[in-house]
Amino acid sequence: MSQSCIIVTGASRGIGAAIAESLARAGFMVGCLSRSGDLPHRQNASDEVRSRWLGAACDVTDASQVRAAIADIQARCNLPLAGLVNNAGVHMEGKSETLPLDEFDKVMQTNANSVLIGSQSVYPYLRESGGLIVNIGSFFDKMGVKRNLAYCASKAAVGAITRCLAVEWAPAGVRVMNIAPGYIVTDLNREAMSTGPLRAYLEKRIPGGEPGTADDVAGLVTLLFSMPGQFLSGETIYIDGAQSIAH
Ligand code: NDP
Repeated sequence: MSQSCIIVTGASRGIGAAIAESLARAGFMVGCLSRSGDLPHRQNASDEVRSRWLGAACDVTDASQVRAAIADIQARCNLPLAGLVNNAGVHMEGKSETLPLDEFDKVMQTNANSVLIGSQSVYPYLRESGGLIVNIGSFFDKMGVKRNLAYCASKAAVGAITRCLAVEWAPAGVRVMNIAPGYIVTDLNREAMSTGPLRAYLEKRIPGGEPGTADDVAGLVTLLFSMPGQFLSGETIYIDGAQSIAH
C-alpha cells in the first residue's frame, strides 16, 4: 500500500484531515488538497504519518486548479495513484423562499460539481490499472430538511454522480462509492454539538444518543481502500448511528 498515493480534498481540517491521517497510517502517501494548501490539522499525528502527507492548494470548483494540484502531487510523490476522496464541502442554511440563486449555486458547485471535477481529473491516472473514488455525501441526501434545500440537493447529486460514474467507469476497473455521514463532531461544531438545543436534539434523534466522530468516517474510508475485491461499487453507505432509519 505504501507503494501508492491517494488524493483527499478538503484535507486541511475536520473529516478530511482525519481521513488523511487514517490513510497515511495505513501506509498510503496522501495528497492533501484545500484552498489554503495547509497540511491536515491533526495534533497527535506521528512523524511517520506526517512524512506521508503532501499538500497542494486549489479550489475544488476550478477544474484547471484541481488538475494542476493533482499533477503537482503526482510529480512529487512519483507513485501510482490508487484513488481520490472527494470530501471538500460547504454547508449553508436559509429559508427556501428567499434562498439566493447564487448561494444555491455556490453550494452545488462546491459539493456536487467538485465531485465531477475531481473524478474527471483522476480518471486519466486510474483508467490504466483501476482505482477507487470515494465521495463524502451526507445522510441529508434522502431527506427533506427545512432551510437546507441547497445542501440536500447537492448531496443527492453526489449519490447520483456516484452511481453514474460507477456504471460508466466499471469497464476501466474504476470503482466509485459514496459515504453518507450523519451528525459528525469536528473542531468547528464541537461546542454547538456539546451543549444547548442542538445537544438535546441529537440525544433525542440519534438512537445511541451521541454524534459520530471524524475518525469514524475516516475508518470507513480506509476500510474501503484496504479491502480486497472489485465488486463493490456505486453504493451509498450511511454512517449515522442508524438515525436515518430510526422511527
Ligand atoms: P469542514 O468545514 O470542517 O472542512 C471543509 C474542508 O474543505 C476544509 O479542509 C476546507 O479547507 C475545504 N474546502 C472547503 N471549500 C473548498 C473549496 N472550494 N476548495 C477546496 N477546498 C475546500 O467540513 P467537515 O469536515 O465538517 O465536512 C467534510 C465533508 O463531510 C463535507 O463534504 C460535508 O458536507 C460532509 N459532511 C459533514 C458532516 C458533519 O457533521 N461535519 C455530516 C455529513 C457530511 P479550506 O477552507 O482551506 O479550503
